[in-house]
Amino acid sequence: MTIGKLIDGKAFAAGLREQVAEGVAAFAARTGRAPGLAVVLVGEDPASAVYVRNKGKMTVAAGMESFEFRRPASIGADELLELIEELNGDPRVDGILVQLPLPKHLDEQAVIAAIDPAKDVDGFHVINSGRLAVGLPALVPCTPLGCLMLLKDELGDLAGLEAVVVGRSNIVGKPMAQLLLAESCTVTIAHSRTKDLASVVHRADIVVAAVGRPEMIKGEWIKPGAVVIDVGINRVPDPEEEGKSKIVGDVATAEAISHVSAITPVPGGVGPMTIAVLLRNTLVAACARAGVEAPEGL
Ligand code: NDP
Repeated sequence: MTIGKLIDGKAFAAGLREQVAEGVAAFAARTGRAPGLAVVLVGEDPASAVYVRNKGKMTVAAGMESFEFRRPASIGADELLELIEELNGDPRVDGILVQLPLPKHLDEQAVIAAIDPAKDVDGFHVINSGRLAVGLPALVPCTPLGCLMLLKDELGDLAGLEAVVVGRSNIVGKPMAQLLLAESCTVTIAHSRTKDLASVVHRADIVVAAVGRPEMIKGEWIKPGAVVIDVGINRVPDPEEEGKSKIVGDVATAEAISHVSAITPVPGGVGPMTIAVLLRNTLVAACARAGVEAPEGL
């Protein structure tokens, strides 16, 4: 039985962060200031608080300025929009990220729409998704861009390959499909209404799973030699330790490993890429705003 390779997203992300740090130093030498990332956290969700803390730490480690704004879950829409307006106008801020999800009384789309597209380092603004769709330079959502980087590192030229993206969210599935299309893949987007998902997945040279269902994609669905990117982060009970939980992806990796040529593990695959690409996007946004060229290869 042949065993596929595990793609080391942790190591790739560390390399990308190093590259960003070098670009940040060059930017600062040229412009006299460091790029700045503002993160807005509304409410007390513990998982979001951990993400925001990690983002802050890595931003500083890359040599950038980190601005953190914590607001209570009770904040009114007007007050939040006012904060975003302030950040839009603040010359020290190159990237604005509003941590999602927001409390139910706030309209996420309206909040995203208020962010200056030039500072939209999450790439969720319709201007950026539109630019991506028509093939113009855009700030692209971090997770799918990270997936693309891993795929290109593994496969080189992706042109002509059959790609199946399972999931059609605005955050992962749709931008992932756009990125693969831009690389000249033949792209299928599957979702909860797709008929016979197993045979759709079986066509693919590249499978990107972004569903949010633990180990839903089975090993035998995968075409021999395919490359699989598992975006899923699912917390499940740990069968080996009672009362404990563990994180698994959307792909049954233990089965899939003997079908694939390479697959991202969960954890340690796509996860670490997201923050590294956020830092990359912040540097790219800073360069565009300052009218200097972004470092090559980023
Ligand atoms: P969403 O819940 O927004 O989207 C899930 C998608 O999966 C939907 O398009 C849905 O279809 C589809 N789906 C659900 N059930 C099935 C099914 N049985 N068969 C086929 N398709 C199905 O999730 P996200 O895109 O935000 O995230 C997906 C996963 O990726 C989650 O586990 C999330 O935690 C993880 N994630 C990881 C990140 C990272 O940094 N590694 C970052 C972002 C997300 P439909 O549209 O028809 O409902």
